[in-house]
Amino acid sequence: MRRRQFLVGIGSLATGWSMAGSARRRPLRVGVVGAGILGSSIGLHLALAGADVTMIESVGPAAGATRNSYAWLNAFVGDPLYRDLRLASLARWRWLDDRYALGIQWGGYLNWGAGEEGRATVQANFDQIVDSSAPARMQSPDEVVRRAPYLTPGPIDAALFAPNDGHLDPEAVTLRLIEAARACGVRFACPSRVEELAFRHGRLTAAITSTGRVELDRLVVAAGTATPAIAALAGGHFSLAHAPGILAHTHPLAFLTNLTHEGPGESSFKQLANGRIVAYDAPHPPDIAAHTGIRANEMDYPSEALRREHGERMLAHLSRYCPQIQARDWARLTLGFRPMPPDDRPIVGALPSAPDVHIAVTHSGVTLAAILGRLVASEVVDGTRSTVLHPYRPERFAAH
Ligand SMILES: Cc1cc2nc3c(=O)[nH]c(=O)nc-3n(C[C@H](O)[C@H](O)[C@H](O)COP(=O)(O)OP(=O)(O)OC[C@H]3O[C@@H](n4cnc5c(N)ncnc54)[C@H](O)[C@@H]3O)c2cc1C
Repeated sequence: MRRRQFLVGIGSLATGWSMAGSARRRPLRVGVVGAGILGSSIGLHLALAGADVTMIESVGPAAGATRNSYAWLNAFVGDPLYRDLRLASLARWRWLDDRYALGIQWGGYLNWGAGEEGRATVQANFDQIVDSSAPARMQSPDEVVRRAPYLTPGPIDAALFAPNDGHLDPEAVTLRLIEAARACGVRFACPSRVEELAFRHGRLTAAITSTGRVELDRLVVAAGTATPAIAALAGGHFSLAHAPGILAHTHPLAFLTNLTHEGPGESSFKQLANGRIVAYDAPHPPDIAAHTGIRANEMDYPSEALRREHGERMLAHLSRYCPQIQARDWARLTLGFRPMPPDDRPIVGALPSAPDVHIAVTHSGVTLAAILGRLVASEVVDGTRSTVLHPYRPERFAAH
């Protein structure tokens, strides 16, 4: 698909919902498996589109990757089509934020680097969005210091500022989306685990859950890392990559900033509205014995002592760049597992093996939840296929 077509597709969404579903005698009954940020956005958008929605969550709101997410909203990817999808999502987040008071921090993103490697990293980031509708701006060292006077950034050989970016509190925003969905009539079954799916002549009739049978016309599976197992109940076959990630959280500190920061080494951090600093670690744990449990995809950190040691070390590194943050401010360390498709792109759409069962699973799911919620709801209720989602179909993993 060419970019022009993409933009036309996104643009037409702004004109409002198709009324194709209104000819039914009763509203379409749609189940949503998973109340992470993506399932919650889908549930809300389905209700706004007129569906009769039941959300089914096995543990609690935001219990999966969402709770453990850094939750930076950004469009930094090389592929222009994928970048436009992310930019459309940022625009949709602004709409949702205005309408439902989500408290998103639209402070922008500051990225600086030192030495040849740092300069190349910042330049590569800049190049990814330079020709987009929301380009970043290169910054002089003086501008960095003016923008973030609390930093002791060290030498700065290149820096950029992306004014369009934001960050959010993933748990608080998920709860708010669920609250908004429930106000639109969405039923919320929790704790309730989807265990089987029932079909008649190839059409979905119900989800069988740990708390009973839910009669359905359509199902959207937004169950994070559990999505492949549920898709398999409907004949869908794909896997996700192993992608753990770690965050250190402080106690509430005095207000410093609403920026999202990324400097050299371990200096990525943001501050939530409640004052807590959230620091982001390198994406992959080293291959050492203590991380065997992490590598086996177990949710528990190997030991409480190691958890504290790791968290305090992250904050000690960070204090070199921001002295207001100290190792003693450490409160907790979280380990999360990203739902990571093998090609790092969303997997969205009806399963070829079961057209009433849609899946939505992605990394960068916080960035993308707003637009995917809208697009998935539109496809499910209208029964159409959005050209915007064409590159992300589950069919691409079909065995050849
Ligand atoms: C450390 C880390 C940093 C990240 N940083 C960013 C970032 O900066 N920006 C960004 O955009 N993204 C980021 N991500 C990715 C992002 O957090 C995820 O893509 C997103 O949270 C996925 O949301 P989800 O709703 O799809 O899945 P989840 O949040 O995992 O939710 C799935 C839900 O499904 C439920 N469930 C599972 N099985 C069943 C069942 N059988 N029945 C009922 N319910 C079930 C689970 O309990 C869970 O609540 C990060 C992730 C991590 C771990």
